[in-house]
Amino acid sequence: MIPFSPPRMDQKIIDEVIDTLKSGWITTGPKVKRFEENLTEFGGQKATLCVSSASSGLELMLRWFGVQEGDEVIVPAYTYSATANVVVHCGAKVVFVDVGKDFNIDVKAVEKAITDKTKVIMPVDLAGFPCDYDDLNRLVQRLDVKAKFRARTEEQQRLGRILILSDAAHSLGGIYKGKRTGNLTDITVYSFHAVKNLTTAEGGAVCLNLPEPFDNSAIYSYLRIKSLHGQSKDAFSKVQIGGWKYDITEPGYKFNMTDIAAAMGLVELARYDSDMLVRRKHIFDAYSGAFAEYSWAELPVYETSDKKSSYHVFLLRIRDVSERRRDAMIQKIYEKGVTVNVHFIPLPMMTYYKNAGYNMAQFPGSYDNYSRVISLPVYYDLTDEQVQIVINVVVESVEETLT
Ligand SMILES: *Cc1c(COP(=O)(O)O)cnc(C)c1O
Repeated sequence: MIPFSPPRMDQKIIDEVIDTLKSGWITTGPKVKRFEENLTEFGGQKATLCVSSASSGLELMLRWFGVQEGDEVIVPAYTYSATANVVVHCGAKVVFVDVGKDFNIDVKAVEKAITDKTKVIMPVDLAGFPCDYDDLNRLVQRLDVKAKFRARTEEQQRLGRILILSDAAHSLGGIYKGKRTGNLTDITVYSFHAVKNLTTAEGGAVCLNLPEPFDNSAIYSYLRIKSLHGQSKDAFSKVQIGGWKYDITEPGYKFNMTDIAAAMGLVELARYDSDMLVRRKHIFDAYSGAFAEYSWAELPVYETSDKKSSYHVFLLRIRDVSERRRDAMIQKIYEKGVTVNVHFIPLPMMTYYKNAGYNMAQFPGSYDNYSRVISLPVYYDLTDEQVQIVINVVVESVEETLT
């Protein structure tokens, strides 16, 4: 069976993890600090805070901005549940909007969904392809949109407009108009979950890029405390001479990253551009080249003059196919030994959100993408021979189902 996306774990990563295990310091410490610095240098954002997951990073930032009951947060209907669940945790209302052919949030739909309760927009760079950030950034700056904004907290007052909190769980290394994701809008959150392009088993990072008069390094220092129980010193500082005394400044969270996780991240980030992305792009190009011959195949766009994907998942759509026939194709592909997937089942189709009153009929673009998509395996260790097997199996399975 060809798996979907096993993590890349080689001797270099094992050595770095063992080095951490033997160092006497395994939780948040020097390696997390170094990983944060390297991520800042990589993305070009103003500061980076490592956290335990993208979910915790997104929730931390919603809480920092003071999102609460009575507020609305705009989220694409086509995403993983984390993007919306964190809004529910804060007591705010999730306002789903539809996505376009590129699987990303439709900025026109966002514009229509804005009310005087909207506090945050959470675009998702689906499959690693960056959203239309110029349009999104321009929209929140528009005077008529700003005039609607009702600040309820000091941070909201200071920003004076809707915050853009980008879910870049897929798009580390993606590029928009010459800049990396991480450096495209107010705040960007990466995921280092086991199936993501760069993994630390579990982990995430918050990239801070807030405009003046915000002081991003001061916010970083504040968030370090907020993400660790509001404890005025982290455990590493406490063990230094005379460092035992500390205070609790607020009832914070337990969202910190461990040095064991950061050790994996340090190795992966150092070779990410020159190795990981090169391999993933090679696999994307191979799929694209092979499926281009078939009239039933709708290929994903992953490079344009403005945008470059991080090549996270390859979203092949089948033309003119029903959800049921697509499901039958997936079944055949599995039976022939290849693991495929669907990214994603839109959230309004999920029991919790359906019961909360969301109606899938309002998101035809998301349904169309979902009902016709098959996500193909893309991972570092997938060999060219295996890529060929995936192509053959998918072609056979699709053609058997279509005839
Ligand atoms: C994986 C994923 C997340 C959550 O990341 P975690 O690090 O597992 O919390 C959020 N959004 C999207 C789109 C994802 O795919």
